[in-house]
Amino acid sequence: MPATIPEELSAGLQPAGAIQVQAVPPAPDLPMIQARGLHKTFATPAQQVRALAGVDLEVRKGDIFGIVGFSGSGKSTLLRCINLLERPDAGTVLLAGQEATTLDRRHLGLLRRKVGMIFQHFHLFDARTVGENIAFPLEIAKAGRRHIEARVEELAALVGISDKLKAYPGQLSGGQKQRVAIARALANDPIVLLSDEATSALDPETTWSILQLLKDINRQMGLTIAFVTHELDVVRVLCNQVAVLEAGRIAERGEVGEVFRNPRSLAGVRLVEISRGFREGSLFTDGGGI
Ligand code: ADP
Ligand code: MG
Repeated sequence: MPATIPEELSAGLQPAGAIQVQAVPPAPDLPMIQARGLHKTFATPAQQVRALAGVDLEVRKGDIFGIVGFSGSGKSTLLRCINLLERPDAGTVLLAGQEATTLDRRHLGLLRRKVGMIFQHFHLFDARTVGENIAFPLEIAKAGRRHIEARVEELAALVGISDKLKAYPGQLSGGQKQRVAIARALANDPIVLLSDEATSALDPETTWSILQLLKDINRQMGLTIAFVTHELDVVRVLCNQVAVLEAGRIAERGEVGEVFRNPRSLAGVRLVEISRGFREGSLFTDGGGI
């Protein structure tokens, strides 16, 4: 085990024991993620930063739900509050119908195992091989050696990196690293996958291939995905639902096509205008557009 384990990955460190946590998919009409009245303020020496100012969010089973907004609008804080990496000051989070905000540390750790997460900068363990990275959450869950070996191979095949199992992260491209991170996030059969800017550090072609992979996983496994990004085009390709965050509040939400065709909030209009401007080149005149 590496000397320092990122908090995101150490969530389920407690052995499973005899505790039963209901982490099974809810009835189809129950939302997979349900956040109500989330507030979060960070106190820094200089000021109080209000990151979330009353967020209500529902993500249905099987949705690929985009959460967009300008930098600083609260997207990452919202994701971190959904899996309780960050404690909201007020509000509740239900995952698969189970209230997560009231669970004690141990039960929360068990529930969190069922919440996979991927990041912009992958957060792989550099000293572990690809196979060992994917195996990590299974080791934490105290799975047997045979099961781990079989599962690692299965996951590597799913994300298309079977030939890299003995390689180290430093020997991989960005796209391959994100595939490893996705495989690792799927290891414990999560009920939801949270993605924080997972394609934002990748070139367009690699972004496209990762989006294809996520879409395939969503279709094949019915996996619910909450996908945070500042890139509108990515949401257009990947998501069916979208919410626009603005200053810690949901400014608008709805079907992706509807919101993009007819944005109603200031942030929605500005995001759509900027994305259109980039595509049409209207923001640029020989590089002098901004
Ligand atoms: P986004 O992901 O949309 O860029 P964040 O959720 O990271 O936005 O941040 C929302 C606001 O909260 C920003 O103003 C940010 O500076 C602030 N913030 C986030 N995390 C912390 C923290 N740990 N301490 C202080 N301020 C924070
Ligand atoms: Mg962020």
